[in-house]
Amino acid sequence: MQRLVPLALTAMVAVPSLSCGEAEERHPNIVLVSIDSLRPDHLGCYGYGRATSPEIDRLASAGVRFESALSTSSWTLPAHAALFTGLHDSSHGLFDNGLRLAPEHRTLAEELRGAGYHTAGFFGGPYLHPTFGLGDGFDVYRSCMTTVPDELSDEDLRRESRASEGRSHDDITGPRTAEEVERWASERPVDRPYFLFLHLWDVHYDFIPPAPYDRMFDPGYAGALDGRDFMSRTEVHPGMSPRDLEHLLALYDGEIRFTDEILKRVLDSLGAKGMLDNTLVIVTADHGEEFFEHGTKGHQKTLFDEVVKIPLVLHWPGVLDAGRVVRDQVRIIDVMPSVLAAAGVRKRPTMAGRDILPLARGAALEPAPALLELHADKREFRALRTNELKVIRYGRRPDGRELPSVGLDLATDRLERQPIGEGGGNARVDEGLRKLDRALETAQALRVWLGAKATSAEMDPELERKLRETGYLMDGGKRE
Ligand SMILES: [Zn+2]
Repeated sequence: MQRLVPLALTAMVAVPSLSCGEAEERHPNIVLVSIDSLRPDHLGCYGYGRATSPEIDRLASAGVRFESALSTSSWTLPAHAALFTGLHDSSHGLFDNGLRLAPEHRTLAEELRGAGYHTAGFFGGPYLHPTFGLGDGFDVYRSCMTTVPDELSDEDLRRESRASEGRSHDDITGPRTAEEVERWASERPVDRPYFLFLHLWDVHYDFIPPAPYDRMFDPGYAGALDGRDFMSRTEVHPGMSPRDLEHLLALYDGEIRFTDEILKRVLDSLGAKGMLDNTLVIVTADHGEEFFEHGTKGHQKTLFDEVVKIPLVLHWPGVLDAGRVVRDQVRIIDVMPSVLAAAGVRKRPTMAGRDILPLARGAALEPAPALLELHADKREFRALRTNELKVIRYGRRPDGRELPSVGLDLATDRLERQPIGEGGGNARVDEGLRKLDRALETAQALRVWLGAKATSAEMDPELERKLRETGYLMDGGKRE
């Protein structure tokens, strides 16, 4: 495995680090929006039939939409670490609960701050808390949660613990996020370009959009089910009433429309202050959401497309053409190198992601497979996805037995329901599995080479409680 390191690094060094050549493109402002749990196939610009996303659709029609963008995993922490480092999960090391991003990693915010940017982040969910290291590099980093305090002081903890008694996923953070951004926009230093990161949380379960979004897409529903306690309530199971499931989807869609309008409010506010001139706006997500397509609900359970495909829209008027759609597969790890290229900042040679602005400009790049990883239920799942084929290694069961690996032909089986090559014997799948193993070895070797083992997060009891309520800590809490 060790000899893979210099080969891998040599290959990475050979990739030229591009920066924008034209003066007017230099140092644009950057707005990066991550909408938690947002499935692209529930957005109008990706072909959805409901009007869930007029603002994102507007950005897509005036910018570039990537048809097939992939996360690195199906849950919040590793996906955001990949977004902020340009590394696979096995390289940044944040693939399990209770870990903190090693300070040796240079985050996107650190790189942009080093290049002279003012950096500001606003987050609405627990895994973006600075205790996990994802706040590194931000001049301003504010929590917009109402149930977990930003500072987590003892005093806050006592007060918030009482205030949040009995609350679980019912934190509605969008309006507070918009208010915090508006406040920051009036106070920020105006002599530097800015990098603004928004983590919009409300699409994440529970599905309890405020009126009128709660009835917007299913006004005739007369049943008793609502979107509370999505993960724990027993009525929500694979054999549930199709009508009730339809209602849950309408509530999920209501959260998307609610969040889309928060995004519009934020962008309108920035525009009114003249802050969107020469600005690259990126809208994406950390992962999707499952509604029993493969027997489970929520996320952090599988690596099927409904949880690993994410939207990706780039809006940069005057630089990127309006209305371009890129069919080639791209990855969440490609966002950071692309932002650095847009900002004229040279990327580090160890970064696994690549600048995809050439694709956004209509040029071609070699296809790049997406490495997908998930540590869940005491197993390690891994997959490699190309435009045509996904191979999945299901790993070992707790009793040590190796589960059969499978292939999925994405050209003929878009819904991933007819595995091919189960148990071996299919040359195409076997070759895909060999590539998966090589990609994983390279990612793991890079982590060793970087010498940046993620350290254990100092998990505050209140934060741990919040994570437990949101369904992330299910088996006794912190793990190595
Ligand atoms: Zn998430």
